Amino acid sequence: MKYLPEQKILEALNEFNTPFHIYDEKLIRENAVQFKKAFGILPGFRNYFAVKALPNPFILKVLEEEGMGADCSSLPELMLAEKAGITGENIMFSSNDTPAEEFKAAKKLGAIINLDDMSHIEFLEKNAGIPRCVCLRYNPGKSREGGNLIIGKPAEAKYGFTKEQLFEGYMLLKKKGVKRFGLHTMIVSNELNEKYIIGTAIMLFEVIAEVKKRLDVAIEFVNLGGGIGIPYRPEQKAVSYERIANGIKKAYEEILVNLKPKIFMECGRAITGPYGWLVARVRHIKHTYKDYVGLDASMANLMRPAIYGAHHHITVVGKEKKPHNHRYDVTGSLCENNDKFAIDRMLPEIREGDVIVIHDTGAHGHAMGFNYNGKLRSAELLIREDGSIIEIRRAETTDDYFATLDFNRLKKFK
Ligand SMILES: *Cc1c(COP(=O)(O)O)cnc(C)c1O
Repeated sequence: MKYLPEQKILEALNEFNTPFHIYDEKLIRENAVQFKKAFGILPGFRNYFAVKALPNPFILKVLEEEGMGADCSSLPELMLAEKAGITGENIMFSSNDTPAEEFKAAKKLGAIINLDDMSHIEFLEKNAGIPRCVCLRYNPGKSREGGNLIIGKPAEAKYGFTKEQLFEGYMLLKKKGVKRFGLHTMIVSNELNEKYIIGTAIMLFEVIAEVKKRLDVAIEFVNLGGGIGIPYRPEQKAVSYERIANGIKKAYEEILVNLKPKIFMECGRAITGPYGWLVARVRHIKHTYKDYVGLDASMANLMRPAIYGAHHHITVVGKEKKPHNHRYDVTGSLCENNDKFAIDRMLPEIREGDVIVIHDTGAHGHAMGFNYNGKLRSAELLIREDGSIIEIRRAETTDDYFATLDFNRLKKFK
């Protein structure tokens, strides 16, 4: 787990109001370099950063410089990628339930289009035309062939083609003139068990071998999806990129033999998750049936604890070494009882005005924010490599909140 140096927190507090998310550019770059080095042993490796994890163009630009592409699934995400200088096949468009105009935009950008359903082949043809390169998203369903280790319940997931549809899909695309084919799946999430990540690769490699055998279609690239986990709890251990890469390489050589597809991933969380923090101030302390610490941040700034019961490590600035002998619920101000960052968390004694750091908010943090209850999303800050702190997104104001309303019409409204 990465800690934000106290000096940096104080510097940021000097200049910016809480709450804010703050990211560390140097750590993001170092991790990206390590990621690329480890997985670079795989042919043609590239990670398409999942834009939904941290949709900020400053971050996308940093990642582009470190050799990453962008995994997008909506028009605004495609636009963000383009603004950050990520274009053409450095964009993977992995959408579902896709509107026609998004297929059009993706095709125009020259992005790799990853189709989620059989019916999208005709839909794409009608609305945007079939590109020369198409990727298909596979959902293995209940299959456990070859002793693959697949967790979760793909059969309950809305994504992807069934196995039979996948074969039909490649045949149909071949008939329609497609020359280059990709295969994609995404069946793990926040996974710390390296075996399951390697298991996904094994499963896909077996499909590639079967596609070659049954259809004589050579898959040019395989996208293993995202889903590499991060240790949100201090006692958890990070995965080893090297061990995963070596496991995938071994399976590649054993299963694919003469086939040489490129290997892609679309990790988001593992790339930026540990290098972001939500910094908030304690507004009120409340003692009723339990002890509550009320922050100036709410689930509008970080939803994961409220919606998944996700754990985020919490520290109190200047009190890290004090005995953690107080039990608190750490809450926001939303009128929803699940607006809690932590429940029954042992922390040092907290006072009003204390600064709280919520860890690992660099992915699926600010991005999931929303405006329910009139809550506004916070600013995002970036610690540059030279130590300076810049604002890469300002906080929302009430003007932003009201931007979609026309109060002049309200005056005439009877
Ligand atoms: C959310 C998502 C990702 C990124 O997942 P992480 O857990 O952030 O790695 C990648 N691909 C697809 C299709 C997704 O929906």
